[in-house]
Amino acid sequence: MASEIMLSDIRTEVEATSNDCKLYKQICEEKEYDFDQTIKGSNLDEIPYVNWNYFKESNKKFQELLRIPYNELSYWTISSSTSGDPSLVGRDAEDIEVFKNNYRKVFEEYSKMRLIKRLILFAPSIEFMNKMPGSWLGKRGFLFYRDIADIWKNYEIDYLLKFKVWKVLLYLISHFKAKAFIEINGKLMVKSLKEVEHQKTPTLIANSVPLMYQNFVDYYKKHKKGFNMPETFRIQLGGGGWNGIKGRVKLEHKIDKVDFMEKMSGFFNIPYDNITDNYGATEVPIACGGHWSKNYEDFLFHIDKDEAYIIIRDIENLERIKKTKEPGIIEVLTPYGVKSYAGVAVMLDDIVEIVDFNKCVECGREGLVFRITGRMTPEIGKGCSSFTNLFPFK
Ligand SMILES: [Zn+2]
Repeated sequence: MASEIMLSDIRTEVEATSNDCKLYKQICEEKEYDFDQTIKGSNLDEIPYVNWNYFKESNKKFQELLRIPYNELSYWTISSSTSGDPSLVGRDAEDIEVFKNNYRKVFEEYSKMRLIKRLILFAPSIEFMNKMPGSWLGKRGFLFYRDIADIWKNYEIDYLLKFKVWKVLLYLISHFKAKAFIEINGKLMVKSLKEVEHQKTPTLIANSVPLMYQNFVDYYKKHKKGFNMPETFRIQLGGGGWNGIKGRVKLEHKIDKVDFMEKMSGFFNIPYDNITDNYGATEVPIACGGHWSKNYEDFLFHIDKDEAYIIIRDIENLERIKKTKEPGIIEVLTPYGVKSYAGVAVMLDDIVEIVDFNKCVECGREGLVFRITGRMTPEIGKGCSSFTNLFPFK
């Protein structure tokens, strides 16, 4: 269950948000919400929530969700959207620090961040992300992911995604619009993996499920062998992508989680425990670490009872589901990291099942345990294959 202190902080933050944000006040008035009531685990679902759609660029409501004067806004944090319609969340410096700390905690607890010496990322460099264009209402926007990658800035990092600048230029000249040409740096991938294998460097390889899966499977097919990694070698997944779609990447097929675990564990000769997942979203500051469960053949995610709470809602009527093992839409409630925008209660587009309300029987962690079973928003893959070369070992 959620901690008493946090529930009381949620009550304060709901009222403060309604005072700061006209749009949220409207939502509260429509629900005739009573701000004076004590918040308990049992009435969390009565708290007015903001639907994830409100953050979408196309709905033009994102600026109305701000709680702070416009000049205090650091920048928009934006999601890397496959559909071309990103979420835009305005945050100030303090809120940015809160979500970075939440992610740092997960990296430390689940991926032993402090012991890691080297990072291999299926992502473009921070330098590139800093240069990516994008501003809204005169304020700069940066990928939410950029701030998460920034947590690792003092590590030795190999960025495997690169952008073909000359192709971008040619395309710009002929089409008069910007389009990213991304590809995987296959040579760098092999070089860094071989170095890690020989030098036994404690290394974390992270980010995209579809990019990792396809490239390592292709490499194995071509070379008929994987890597004999040290026991300090770890994989940190970025939550989602099992349908083969993540960011600009689109595979032709879904990825089976059991197959992924078998192949990755075999390819690197590492135990399943060295592969962890992380659930979060641009619209909320929380980060939930996850470990593999042989029992569920899935990742189980944990939420810290002092940090946030989740409830799930029926897909048809949005009523709260109070049972375990029934799928519903996830709503995240947290009073921390939402001082700059109306994020105290946000409904996201993921469908999850609560595995246990109190404790994980597999790892012993206290608090709510859930797993992700689907997604509401249909994902229209925009990663047109002619613009990408993401699978160099095919
Ligand atoms: Zn657990």
